[in-house]
Order: sequence, then structure tokens, then C-alpha cells
Amino acid sequence: MKKPIILAVDDDTAVLGAIEHDLLQRYRPDYRVMRAGSAAEGLDAAKELAARNAQVALFLVDQRMPGMSGIELLGEVMKLHPESRRVLLTAYADTDVAIAGINTIGLDHYLMKPWDPPEQRLYPILDDLLSEWRARVRPSYEGIRVLGSQWSPESFAVKQFLSGNRIPYEWVDLDLDATARALLESLTGDLTQLPVVLFPDGTHLVAPASMQLAAKVGLQTEAHRPFYDVVVIGGGPAGLANAMYAASEGLRTVLVEAYAPGGQAATSSLIENYLGFPAGVTGADLAQRATAQARRLGAELLSGQEVVGLRREDPYRVVVLADGTELTAYCVVIATGMSARVLEIPGAAPLHGNGVYYGAAMTEAARYRAKDVCVVGGANSAGQGALFFSRYAHRVTMLVRALDLKSSMSSYLIDRIRSAPNIEVIYGVEVEAVHGEGALESVDLKVVASGARRTIPVAAMFIFIGVRPHAEVFAGVLALDEGGFVLTGSDLPQEHGRPRGWPLERAPFMFETNMPGVFAAGDVRSGANRRVAAAVGEGSAAIFSVSRYLRTV
Ligand SMILES: Cc1cc2nc3c(=O)[nH]c(=O)nc-3n(C[C@H](O)[C@H](O)[C@H](O)COP(=O)(O)OP(=O)(O)OC[C@H]3O[C@@H](n4cnc5c(N)ncnc54)[C@H](O)[C@@H]3O)c2cc1C
Repeated sequence: MKKPIILAVDDDTAVLGAIEHDLLQRYRPDYRVMRAGSAAEGLDAAKELAARNAQVALFLVDQRMPGMSGIELLGEVMKLHPESRRVLLTAYADTDVAIAGINTIGLDHYLMKPWDPPEQRLYPILDDLLSEWRARVRPSYEGIRVLGSQWSPESFAVKQFLSGNRIPYEWVDLDLDATARALLESLTGDLTQLPVVLFPDGTHLVAPASMQLAAKVGLQTEAHRPFYDVVVIGGGPAGLANAMYAASEGLRTVLVEAYAPGGQAATSSLIENYLGFPAGVTGADLAQRATAQARRLGAELLSGQEVVGLRREDPYRVVVLADGTELTAYCVVIATGMSARVLEIPGAAPLHGNGVYYGAAMTEAARYRAKDVCVVGGANSAGQGALFFSRYAHRVTMLVRALDLKSSMSSYLIDRIRSAPNIEVIYGVEVEAVHGEGALESVDLKVVASGARRTIPVAAMFIFIGVRPHAEVFAGVLALDEGGFVLTGSDLPQEHGRPRGWPLERAPFMFETNMPGVFAAGDVRSGANRRVAAAVGEGSAAIFSVSRYLRTV
């Protein structure tokens, strides 16, 4: 833990020098003694220290200063440092003001100048106040802090980004923390733009985009080389496996991830069907191991960078990033996966992030401790979600459109759901609308067979109702199937016995799209078996085709 701070403020240089000297004499081993030569300087220092989450044990402030009195200054700093002890330096004539200050700003003590000898007139008082402070205060968090509202979707996105990239942070809920609100007002003068991310170096970002945040927390966001053998788009299991094998084969490899490595798999609370992990593995753990392995073998990983375009400039393929940067390579592997389909019902969009979530929003589980929540969907991911939230929630209600789970869910999950005492499954229903002022309060259901309607009160709804491939950006450039998934190899539409528009004599390699040298692997590929092991397998196997292609350029 860093040393707590004692801040002395006085515009009289001689007095400030004397008090600093006496403070250093006694408190230097345990405290950092700081000085400010005016009230304005003192206030700025207090703000900066609050932004760094530094602990100020004591403010020692002169009463008579131009522009702002000591009492006024202490009144301001106590909003930012409510736990700090507050001492006023006074002349005899200020005694009444100081006594009034005890009531108005909770002044702990006033000291008459001069305070000589300090052993009798200064240290005993400050020793008492400091030991009282130490007894009450708890160590402050010294890392990144996210100040936001649990009702702001942007705050939710930043939390997800940081946890997805395994960046530790402290969440500070502005709705519950008046000191944090005061700090935010002093920093930005605005409580509408959320979240604000505070860094230990005293800087902050307001409602940052993923790329800004990635750069600030030290993730790689820019490519190191002008040219690569392979650019891998997407850092899920398929992309990570592909990048890992490409790098291990000595290929110059860069992986571009829009968000956080791990993809959908990273949001899984427990993957139980991945070979080699008999007790299961959390998606976050698997993602972290795969990321470390790909990096160790030499792949570059860009985080928070979204791919927005792809073009062919033979013999090169050019990948365009959202910030305008272009990456050039011989080969591109598309492993952009897919995401949850959006539930388009009245009330859902404004409550997204405020009780309405897609997939297993694990960062939010603790928020719904002992509350009633529902899970929409009947596939394996919904079952896993229900089991995960049942560890926190009072009751989990699964809302399933079908009349049983057998056709859509693995039997081991069905058994677990049946034996979980706080999971109830309602079959044959559709969600019609959701309601809530600022946060989800209830969900309207329609019984499919009878049309009967009912409303259930829930604090959160986790939706698992199907998927959308992340291939829109390649529409018009690559051949996609009717669901929007990327077509490859023998699945490419044929014309006169060859793939339509295919420019080469040879047939496309396995995983190759209709643009030679561009491959697709994992969930984004048409016909893929959407599982972690399958994605890893495709990502790994696609390197065989990449190597064959590289021999042709
Ligand atoms: C909640 C949940 C639980 C699951 N549990 C299991 C399980 O237990 N067992 C199992 O086998 N499978 C499970 N799955 C399925 C499994 O996670 C997926 O099949 C697997 O993650 C697919 O891997 P992928 O690499 O193809 O795609 P994804 O995992 O979807 O990864 C694609 C990545 O590409 C990135 N991306 C997308 N577009 C762009 C772009 N334009 N620019 C840059 N990056 C982009 C995304 O941010 C993402 O990180 C689960 C899925 C979910 C959602």
C-alpha cells in the first residue's frame, strides 16, 4: 500500500515551510507530506489525489488565504475525501470561525499559530487524529476504477471489455456513492456521460470506445509489421487456434479482435465438453490460456480493433480496420463467429444492459443475488445460463417456446436443471413485452397454444434465442449462404461445374472462400458445427490450406 498523504496548505511561504518541516520530522516514515501554496492549488491537489484514489489522511489548512478561506477549502475537499481528518491553522482572531467550522464542515481541530514547541502543541494532536483515521480507514484500491451507473449500457460495455481482456478494475456505482459523484463533477462537470474510467496515473477517459480503452490499458492496438503472411480476423477459439498454429509454423501472423479474445466461448460459465478438461473449464480460463499460447508462439494480437473491410490487390489481401488502418498480407482467415439474435419486442431495447441481457452476462450475476430472474431459450447455452444464475438468484424461470427440452438441449444439462431446486421451466410460451422504469421489472408472456397471457415479475432477463453471423462486413465481397454465413470449399455455389466467379484453374482449398487466399473457420462458416472443439479444429486445420496457398504465391 502506498503511504497515505498529509497535505498542508498555506499562502504564507514561511509558515508553509515551517509546518512542512515539522510534519516531515515526525511523519516522514509513515506518510507522504505534500504542500500547496494557495487554496486553489490545494483544491487542485485534492482533486487529483481523489482521481488517483490516493488516501489523504489529513488536511492542515490555513484559515486566511486570498480567494478562498481555509474553512471554505476544507468544505470543498471533504466532498472528495470524506474520511480525511481536517485541521485549521488559525490566528487568535479566527477562533469564532474555527468553532463554527466544527459544526459546519466537521472540523476535527484548530491550531493556534505559532505551534512551538511541536512536541507539545502539534504532534500530540495530529498523532491522535492520525491514529483515529488509521483505525477507521480501509485500504484504497490502487488500480483502474470504472465510475458509472448500473443503468447505463455504456458502463456495462466497458465492464465487459475490461473483464474480457482480464484487466482488473474496481466498479464504483455512482447511484450509491456520493463521494464518487462529487469527484466526477469536479473532473468532468457532467454526470450524463458515463462511464468515466480513472487510471492510477491520475488521467481519465469519458465513455471510451473499445479502441481508446485498449490503447490506454496497454493492450496492443497497432500492428508491428508492415506486412504479414496471415491476418486472422476474430479472436474466438477458431481465430486463436489459427493464429497459434500459423505462428508456430513460422508464419508472420497478426490476429485482429474487435473486443476481447475468447469470443463467445469466453462468456461460457463452464465448458464441459472440451477434450482434456474432465472437470470442465471456464470460457474465460480457456481464452486466457489460448491467448497466452498464441502470443508465446509469436502471433501478434490486436485488441479493441474492428475489421470493417476486405479487398483483393493481387497477390495481396488488404484488411481495413475501423480506425482507417490497413493490414496487408498474403492470406486472410475469417473467424468472426456469431452473436446472439436480438429479441425485438416492446420495451427490450431501452432496457438492454439494465436488466435485459444477451447471453450469460456473468459480470452482472452478483447484481441479481437473491432476486428473481428469467432465461429465455431452450438450447444448451440457455441451460448453462440458467444453472449459472441459479447460484446467485433466488429463482430462475426458464421461458421455453417448445414443449420440452429434449430436442434442443443435451441430456446432462436437462438432468441438472431438473434437480436444481430454484429453477422452474415454463414450456410453450413466448415473451411478448418487457416493462420497467430504468430497470427491468416484469415480462409479459403469451402461451403459444391458447393465446392466454400472463405477467411475471423479474429483475433480469437473459436471452439465448439464436444467432447472427458476424459476416455483414464481407457481404458483396464473399459468397454468403441465405443465413449470412460464409460459404467455403465445396459448399460454394457452382456454375458450369466450378465455383461461380472463381478465377483460378484449381478448385478452392478446404475452408477457402470464393476469394482465393481468404479462408473462413469456426461459427461464421456455413455448415460449421458450432462448438468450441469444432472451432478450434477448423482454425487449426485451416492452416493446412493456408500453407498450400502460400506455396502458390
Ligand atoms: C454462453 C455460451 C456458452 C457456450 N458453451 C459452449 C460449451 O459448453 N461447449 C461448446 O462446445 N460450445 C459452447 N458454446 C459455443 C462456442 O462458444 C462457439 O461455438 C465458439 O466460441 C465459436 O468460436 P469462433 O472462434 O468460431 O467464434 P466466436 O467465439 O464467436 O469468436 C469470434 C470473435 O470474432 C470477433 N469479431 C467479430 N467480428 C469482428 C470484426 N469485424 N473485427 C474483429 N473481430 C471481430 C468477436 O468479437 C469474437 O471475439 C457456447 C456459446 C455461448 C454463447
